[in-house]
Amino acid sequence: IKTIGVLTSGGDAPGMNAAIRAVVRKAIANGVKVKGIKKGYKGLLNEEIIDMEKKDVSDTIERGGTILGTARCPEFKTEETQLKAAEICQKHGIDGLVVIGGDGSYRGAQALARHGINTIGLPGTIDLDIACTEYTIGFDTAINTAMQAIDKIRDTSSSHERCSIIEVMGRNAGYIALWCGVANGAEDILLPEKYDFNEQNIINNIINNRKRGKTHHIIINAEGIGHSTSMARRIEAATGIETRATILGYMQRGGSPTCKDRFYASIMGAYAADIICEGKSNRVVGYQHGEFVDFDIEDALAMQKTIPEYQYQVSRILSL
Ligand code: ADP
Repeated sequence: IKTIGVLTSGGDAPGMNAAIRAVVRKAIANGVKVKGIKKGYKGLLNEEIIDMEKKDVSDTIERGGTILGTARCPEFKTEETQLKAAEICQKHGIDGLVVIGGDGSYRGAQALARHGINTIGLPGTIDLDIACTEYTIGFDTAINTAMQAIDKIRDTSSSHERCSIIEVMGRNAGYIALWCGVANGAEDILLPEKYDFNEQNIINNIINNRKRGKTHHIIINAEGIGHSTSMARRIEAATGIETRATILGYMQRGGSPTCKDRFYASIMGAYAADIICEGKSNRVVGYQHGEFVDFDIEDALAMQKTIPEYQYQVSRILSL
């Protein structure tokens, strides 16, 4: 391996820059050249490729987002496009590629590996929904951002004796909702994996809590359940208690990464650089049982992950 490329793909996540920086600096330390590919697979197809030196990643570890940019590229699912991308890599002398993204991005990496480009995936997503790893780049920053926002909403909800529905990100995965639900002491937590809530129970809960003197009622609603605004209207009509929905939205994806995201992304980025320089391919880096490890992409994609039942049960008990 003489030259590797690095790209970020799919949704951005805080800590991606720390990962890019680590890939660049560790690969260079290993005697390998690095090229940055802008805007994910789309930028690769458009040959938006730049040389990266150690200094090019200075002053980036503390920045949110991704300095390389990211994009979705639906046409990358076709064999023809994948072949073209592999040819572009060859043309630019790129014999290995580190892809920072989620499961979709790993499938693209797998396709490139089939076409002779060595690829390594790094888990970049705020949703924590990658089965082969207990940690994903950006999750820690996202939950801290959401937690702080929810604390603020709670203050004003209490003052006005309101009920608040706060929608957090996680279309298919309720990890942000679960963590914030516990950390913010929410009265109700609605997760896409469970979908076992009954709106009438929530309404009864709100009425009973109010009778017991509680001045607010916080419902954390994962994006996957949706309809926070219409739910707020129905709850207000049924309880007579002023109810407001707040959709936290993209603020959860931004901001300066936490120390944990900077640290883990740095170690994982270096690990990816090491294994790609050793000639490994079609692997993804994960964090399991206190260690950084790597898996075959095929095996990683076949793994399943769901909300740990005990954590979910505890979240319900503590919220009563
Ligand atoms: P994530 O990587 O976070 O899961 P997406 O699912 O949006 O995000 O995937 C990011 C990109 O990866 C897509 O825009 C596409 O270019 C590529 N990709 C997704 N699925 C596949 C697939 N089945 N085969 C090849 N490339 C894919």
